[in-house]
Parts: sequence; C-alpha cells; structure tokens
Amino acid sequence: MPSYDYDLFVIGGGSGGVRSARVAASLGKKVAIAEEYRYGGTCVIRGCVPKKLFVYASQFHEHFEDAAGFGWTVGESSFDWKKLIAAKDIEIARLEGLYKKGLAGAQAEILETRAELVDAHTIKLLKTGETVTAKTIVIATGGKPNPHAALPGHELCISSNEAFHLEELPKSILIAGGGYIAVEFANIFHGLGVETTLIYRGTEILSRFDEDLRRGLHEAMVAKGIRILCQDVMEKVAKDENGLVIQTMKGQTLNAGVVMLALGRDPYTQGLGLEKAGVAVNERGAIVVDDYSRTNVENIYALGDVTDRVQLTPVAIHEAMCFIETEYKNNPTKPDYDLIPTAVFSQPEIGTVGLSEEEAGKRYKELEVYRAQFRPLKATLSGRAEKMIMKLIVDAASRKVVGAHILGHDAGEMAQILGITLKAGCTKDDFDRTMALHPTAAEELVTMYAPTYRIRDGQRV
Ligand SMILES: Cc1cc2nc3c(=O)[nH]c(=O)nc-3n(C[C@H](O)[C@H](O)[C@H](O)COP(=O)(O)OP(=O)(O)OC[C@H]3O[C@@H](n4cnc5c(N)ncnc54)[C@H](O)[C@@H]3O)c2cc1C
Repeated sequence: MPSYDYDLFVIGGGSGGVRSARVAASLGKKVAIAEEYRYGGTCVIRGCVPKKLFVYASQFHEHFEDAAGFGWTVGESSFDWKKLIAAKDIEIARLEGLYKKGLAGAQAEILETRAELVDAHTIKLLKTGETVTAKTIVIATGGKPNPHAALPGHELCISSNEAFHLEELPKSILIAGGGYIAVEFANIFHGLGVETTLIYRGTEILSRFDEDLRRGLHEAMVAKGIRILCQDVMEKVAKDENGLVIQTMKGQTLNAGVVMLALGRDPYTQGLGLEKAGVAVNERGAIVVDDYSRTNVENIYALGDVTDRVQLTPVAIHEAMCFIETEYKNNPTKPDYDLIPTAVFSQPEIGTVGLSEEEAGKRYKELEVYRAQFRPLKATLSGRAEKMIMKLIVDAASRKVVGAHILGHDAGEMAQILGITLKAGCTKDDFDRTMALHPTAAEELVTMYAPTYRIRDGQRV
C-alpha cells in the first residue's frame, strides 16, 4: 500500500468542500483543505448570505411607507450604502471565522492557498510551491460568473461578485439576465433607490419556474417601477462622460451608471490540472461525475457547482454528506435531487417545490390545479397593491400534490415546510384534513377545496 500525506485533500473551502473536510476529519481521517480566497465560499462570501442581507436592506423603504397605514409617522429616512457594506462585511467575516473554527475543531488542516492537481494523488500548493499527496481528493471549486467575453465592452461590466463591494451606489443600473440572481439584484437595487432595468433574451423572466408566478412577479416588479425588457440583448457596452451606453439587439440605446451581467455561472475548473490527473470534463468545463459524485478517476470526487448538477448550497452540502457515506461509511449513497424546495428572493418572493403546472402537464394525464390570488391582510391597511398567488398542482389519479408554488411575502419560508409535505407524499386530502392557522396567508394552502381548473392531456379544461 502506498502511503500518502493525507487520507483526504479537499480543494475549495465553500459549502461542499468545508462539509466534506469537516465531517471526514471528525471521523478521524487525516484531512487538509485548501482555499484560494476566503473560507465559506460563494454562499457565505459573495452569494446567498450577503445577498439576503441586501434583500432585507432593500425592503425598508416599503416598510416605512406601509407604516403610515398603521398609524405611524416615520421621520425622514435616508440610506447609507457604505454603512450597509461595512455591516455586511463584519457579519461575513464572523461567518468565515465560524467555518474555520468548525474545521479546526475537527482537526482538519486549514490551508490558505490555491491548490492544483499534479497527478491523481498529488496536489501542488501554490503559496509555497510545495506538493503533497492524498489517498482521496475532493474537488469542490465551485463556479464563476459567466463574463460574456463575446460582448464588446464586457470589461466595463460587473458581476454579482463586484455588486457586493461597489464603492458607491449607482444612480442607475442595467442588469442582463433573467435567472434568479438577475431578478433578485434588480429588486435589491430598485429597493435601494437605484433606477433599475432588467434585460433578458427570453420571453419571460425565470424560465423553469411556474409560468403563472413568472408573469405575476414580472407584473409586480413593473408596478414597483423596475423596467423589464424581454426578448432583447445587449450588443455593445461603451463608456462616455455620463456613464455607460448600451446598444441592444432591438436597436435601443440605454444609459446606465453600472451594467451587471448575471448570465449564468461557469464551473471553475481552469488551471486546476485536471488533464494532468486525467479527470474528464464536459463541453462546459464541468467535471463529469457518476451517481456517487466520483469522477472517471477512481480516487477523485467532485461535488457542488463545479459539476453540472443543481447549483444550490444545500445541494452541495448534501452531495458532500453522500460522499462521506460512500467513501467512509461503506454505505454507497446517491444524492437525491427529487423535490428540492427553492426560493427567489425577489419582492414579492417566490417559493416553490415540485413540478410547475407546465411540467406536471407533460407527466400526468390529468391534473387538478388549486389557485388562489388575494391581497394579504397586511396590504389592506398599508394600501399596497401587492397580490399573493398560491397554487397546488395535484395528480388527479393519485391525489398527490406534485407541485406547490407561492408568490408573496415569506414564500421561501413556506416552501421549506411544503417541501416536507411533498417529500412525504402528502395528498390533497391530507392538506384538506389539516386545520387552518388563522389569520395567516399560508392558511390558503389548506382551504382551497375545489379545483380552480383541470389540465387533461396537457390542455386546460
Ligand atoms: C449571487 C449568488 C446568490 C446565490 N444565492 C443562493 C441562494 O439564495 N440559495 C442557494 O442555495 N444558493 C445560492 N447561490 C448558489 C450557491 O452559492 C452555490 O451553489 C454554492 O456556494 C456552491 O457551493 P460549492 O461548494 O460548490 O462552491 P463554492 O461555494 O463556490 O466554493 C468553492 C470555493 O473553492 C475555492 N477555489 C476554487 N478553486 C480553487 C483552487 N484551485 N484552490 C483553492 N480554492 C479554490 C473558491 O475560492 C471558493 O471559495 C448563490 C450564488 C450566487 C453567486
């Protein structure tokens, strides 16, 4: 048996990497983990967590406005971007510290360096130039924003990475993309008082979500004052004395202080030495893995965003836990991608689990769709025009709820709980037997007794 410096070497200190390293070390394995930037990875440093803090920050102006309807007089308010950034940075640094503490507590060796593969068992640590060996390697290097290198003037644009550290809040922003990151940032910037435009190639924002909710959110965003340009793309970005000038495919000329690209994320595999170790990637540069996150090289695993699977933090963590079961507990475990609850932290929020009406229509012969659209109680006194939408998609034959979709406040929180009910295989009758909790918005989910309409063979009847 060859001897190695480590039982496990993890490249990348993000959601998936830290979990793999910490748990393997806690099982008594000799583990090292390398991170080239900051521990916590995308989620903690420049993804989910700071984004959600920005979402909260951007909601206050509506809270102040709504307060008047409840008898409050709120004095003049103002917003300080630099204060928000400083407070966010303190919280992120605290979380980064917790990640490192967890690793250290489990006796994993924490390396602050870029690491690259030299061969299937050897890793080069770039900070010192030293090489080390490991029996097993986990690659969890995550993804990077697509820079849209083909766009003339792309170097003048920012990505979500820079959005977390802008020196000044711009007066106006143009965000390119229609995915959740683009939509969330459009709402954040608008909420902070920035004149915001979203430009997206597709016919409607947020492809793959339920169409009803996509439309509902689009309308709500436009009503707030966000400009949304669908079926158009930027063709050129240039700079003049007033800021950035953007030419679009449809011949429009737009001006913005900042242009942000949110056009998807690429797996971060460049320069990693994959070819030296013989690790195969697909045409997008994502590491190819089997059902157990194992690459084509027996002792090398890859998990999280660097593989072409579902790009979410809980998924990367789940894949890490499955790796631990497979490699160290003699219990080969495939990650389970069925019924992943997700949210879009837009304003209003989307929370969803299971199949959209369109997808369910393709899979099931007959569906019952239960749909409610209403003004939430809070919006009555505040006078806010916002509407909530709730939808349950039910397979008529088995009565199982196969999709649940919410547009409105706290939709993400509700989707997490709905995820349990769908995972447990609850039927519409289980929902009907559940007592309503009054007065809540969520009670609509258990009080929609008659189907709003049916879908038969993919057609609404
Ligand atoms: C703006 C934004 C918002 C998001 N919001 C959400 C959300 O609300 N909910 C959600 O579930 N997900 C969200 N995500 C996605 C989530 O952040 C990722 O799915 C998750 O972080 C993936 O984890 P990972 O371990 O695969 O990679 P990452 O967390 O990206 O970690 C990879 C780490 O590897 C390091 N690294 C890379 N190469 C090397 C190397 N050669 N040597 C050493 N270190 C290296 C990187 O610096 C990085 O720290 C968001 C992402 C973004 C960008």
